[in-house]
Amino acid sequence: MKRKATRLIHPVQPTEPGVLPHFGAAKTPLYASSTYLFESAEAGAATFALQQGRAVEHEPAPFNYARLGHPNLVQVEGQLVALEGRERGQISGMPDEALAFESGMAAITTSVLALIKPGSVLAYTTPIYGGTIQFFKDFLEPWGIHCYPLRQGQPTESHDSAPNPIPDILYVETPANPTNEQWSWDRLRTWVDQWASNGKRPVVMADNTYLGPCWQHPLEEGADVVLYSATKSMSGHSDLVCGACVGDASLVRRIRPLRNKLGNTASPFTAWLLSRSLETVQLRMQAAQSNARILAQRLGQHPGIQSLAYPGSGAMLSIWLNGGEDHRIAWRFLNSLRCVQQAVSLGSNESLACHPASTTHSAMDPKERKEFRITDNLIRLSVGLEDVEDMWEDLQQALEQAFAAG
Ligand code: PLP
Repeated sequence: MKRKATRLIHPVQPTEPGVLPHFGAAKTPLYASSTYLFESAEAGAATFALQQGRAVEHEPAPFNYARLGHPNLVQVEGQLVALEGRERGQISGMPDEALAFESGMAAITTSVLALIKPGSVLAYTTPIYGGTIQFFKDFLEPWGIHCYPLRQGQPTESHDSAPNPIPDILYVETPANPTNEQWSWDRLRTWVDQWASNGKRPVVMADNTYLGPCWQHPLEEGADVVLYSATKSMSGHSDLVCGACVGDASLVRRIRPLRNKLGNTASPFTAWLLSRSLETVQLRMQAAQSNARILAQRLGQHPGIQSLAYPGSGAMLSIWLNGGEDHRIAWRFLNSLRCVQQAVSLGSNESLACHPASTTHSAMDPKERKEFRITDNLIRLSVGLEDVEDMWEDLQQALEQAFAAG
């Protein structure tokens, strides 16, 4: 099998005797077709039978309908598998360990829904992306899924027994959006082992948007399914909303039919654009990380900063400003930025800063926000690919403005 960087740029292509793939186009074209022709009724029936897990008596057509599969989807899902260092399986020509979606939330909601049933229990690490917590609280709980938060402080490290009740799903986000809170995979594995020895091993799902797909591989840490807002580093240019799920084929095979029913499959255009971005994701993430390391080191010594969380990898900084938990200082800081731009989202080639308490995490219970340090003096900074000295000059002048006006 070829190595990762090669697999990202040379995807597996369809071959036909005597015809170059894609008529010789060097890159996979955008297949803007909603439906696919069948050479025969038998080939059409076989394609549907294969997708429904029934016996196939005839060579199936490669595709039938774009919501259920299309060439750009096959290509991008192959790249997603490669990024997690996995082999490619085959169901109907599709890599059966990866799925691309129309948004990160589509990946998260569809994957969780596919793996629970009425009465299931879900335990989640805290804090967690605002949209995910809203899905748990506003949708899953009213439908009878018991969702409970895991807190770092409990149980005590000295007597670290797994929390109760035993969940069907352990949902992990580490480092967490927006505070960079880190959960130890060792500790989570210990709990999973304890739960398993008490009768039930939960499915472990990990949102790897912050460090993935380059700096953390949850499938190697014990997760069964890894989820992405591919809108972020994977796309990397703030021009696309999409999501991904990669994992154990036996689980992904349960998620795919729900995606096909809910209809949130990545469209040809989404898959094509994401595929193009994935060819350079490793280079972009390395460059952003090296800028972030410099800024983390310098900001950490700045007198305007109360504390800073940076996991040492990736390009996401959580910055608590001095001056107490006062949103006015944080907002003045944001309003003074000239090179770093003010917006939610992250992982793009342009640097973005936001105030989580009043934006991404504003729908959260204020008590929980405080408990998880999503305070009014917190700024989330996503470091991009601009010249690091331009960013540093900008951050310094914005800090000066933030405190000068006070
Ligand atoms: N997970 C994390 C950690 C995120 O930051 C986001 C979005 O910001 C999502 C999931 C949701 O992804 P999307 O906006 O692509 O639906």
